[in-house]
Amino acid sequence: GIAREAMDRLILDVPDYPEAGVVFKDITPLLADHDGFHAAIVALADAGRDESGAVVVDKVLGMEARGFILAAPVALNLEAGFVPVRKAGKLPRECLSESYSLEYGEATLEMHADAVSPGDRVLLVDDVLATGGTIAATRRLVESAGGVVVGAAVLMELGFLSGRDAFDDVACTALAVI
Ligand code: 5GP
Repeated sequence: GIAREAMDRLILDVPDYPEAGVVFKDITPLLADHDGFHAAIVALADAGRDESGAVVVDKVLGMEARGFILAAPVALNLEAGFVPVRKAGKLPRECLSESYSLEYGEATLEMHADAVSPGDRVLLVDDVLATGGTIAATRRLVESAGGVVVGAAVLMELGFLSGRDAFDDVACTALAVI
């Protein structure tokens, strides 16, 4: 479909960024193209609807920083609330925290403690699924607040990293898989 075509044309490979040997997926050309960006948002939002098109989520969570750009318009499309998940120390009020390991060291993600209510149905949105650590940690944040993760949606999945194994009981929609 148009969303898949836009992914292939408008997400660019940047070799050796941010370090030698890594091929970074740059989504900024997609964001700069109205038709491609719009198609991507509509396709991501489908992960928050059932087969009849009815909305099945109360909140859409976006992960800092590129997840914000996608999750906010997805939330408006679904007439749901938007919740930012941020790196440690960025949110001003009481937070829930979850840490996960990186290749070197650790990262911590935070969400305001009152952002997700018990029983809220939540969709997680990010740009790229790599090792799955970000989505897995965000899922734990939602569950520690008593919320239910209905699904995750990303523009691009790096399939060779098998990241979805880190949350294999959560449905994950990827508009493109490489
Ligand atoms: P993971 O936690 O799945 O290993 O990594 C996913 C996170 O890292 C996402 O928040 C994503 O924004 C970022 N990320 C990792 N690799 C890439 C990449 O090649 N391109 C972009 N745009 N983001 C990436």
